[in-house]
Amino acid sequence: MLKIGCHLSASKGYCHMLKEADLLGANTFQFFTRNPRGGKAKEIDYNDIALFKEKANALNFNQILAHAPYTLNPASQNEKIRDFAHLVMKDDLMRLDLLEGALYNFHPGSHVGAGKEIGTQLIIDLLNNILTKETKTTVLLETMSGSGSEIGSTFEELKTIMNEVKYSDKMGVCMDTCHIYSAGYDIKNNLDEVLTHFDSIIGLDKLYAIHLNDTKMPFASHKDRHEKIGEGELGLDAISRIITHPALKNKLFVLETPNELDGYKQEITLLKNIYANN
Ligand code: FE
Ligand code: FE
Ligand code: ZN
Repeated sequence: MLKIGCHLSASKGYCHMLKEADLLGANTFQFFTRNPRGGKAKEIDYNDIALFKEKANALNFNQILAHAPYTLNPASQNEKIRDFAHLVMKDDLMRLDLLEGALYNFHPGSHVGAGKEIGTQLIIDLLNNILTKETKTTVLLETMSGSGSEIGSTFEELKTIMNEVKYSDKMGVCMDTCHIYSAGYDIKNNLDEVLTHFDSIIGLDKLYAIHLNDTKMPFASHKDRHEKIGEGELGLDAISRIITHPALKNKLFVLETPNELDGYKQEITLLKNIYANN
C-alpha cells in the first residue's frame, strides 16, 4: 500500500490531524512543530498524545513527520540565531520523543557567506549537542534546492553532516522532489541514475521520507517553488515513476503542494490509483 499523506495544520492537536488525514485517504501526515517562522510551541497535551497513539495504531497509520520552523538556522554566523536553533530543536525533540518513533525534518541551514565548511561544522555541532542515546525520534536532513547559501543541495553535503554526527543511527534524509530537481538532480529523465547515486553516497536505507511536490521552476534553477502534482515541470509521468519505483515504493510520501484539503484529497486519490494499477 502506498504510504502517503500531506502537510496539515497542527493548531488543533494530533488527534485532529489524524482524523483529518484519515478523511483525506492518507495514512501519514506532516505538520509544523510551531509557527513555521518560529515562535513558541503549544502546551503539551498528554491526553491528546495518548489518544493519538491508540487511534493511530488502530488505523495502521505510518510514522508521522514533523517539520522544524524555517527560521531554524544552526549554520548562522549569528550566535543568537544559533542559540535559537538549539533551543527550538531541543524542545521539538523532547516533545516528539513523547510519540516514540516520529520523524523530524529540518532544513540543514544557510551559511550566509561564511562558507560551506564553517556552516556545515556548525550544523554538526548542533546535532552532536542535542542527540543522545535516548533520542526516540529520527532526525532528517532535507535535500535543498541550493538557493542562496543553503547547505544540503548535494548528497555529498548531507553525507558529510551525517558522517560526523555521533548518533548517526538517529539520522536520515528526507528527499524533496521539487528541491532536488531544482538542485540539478534529473529525477524527471534519469531517476534510476539519481537513486543509484544517492545509494552510493548516502544509502537508500537512510532515506526515510519523500516530500512529493511538482515544481514551478526549470531544472537546476536552484529555486524553490512547489507546484501541484502534475501541473509543474516534473509532470505526472515522472511523479508516477517516483512513487512506483522499486527502490522507493515502500517509502513515506508527503505532499507539500499548494493545496487546501480538497486539493490534497484529489492528489492522494490520484496517486493511490496510479500506485494500485502499477
Ligand atoms: Fe521543508
Ligand atoms: Fe520539503
Ligand atoms: Zn520547498
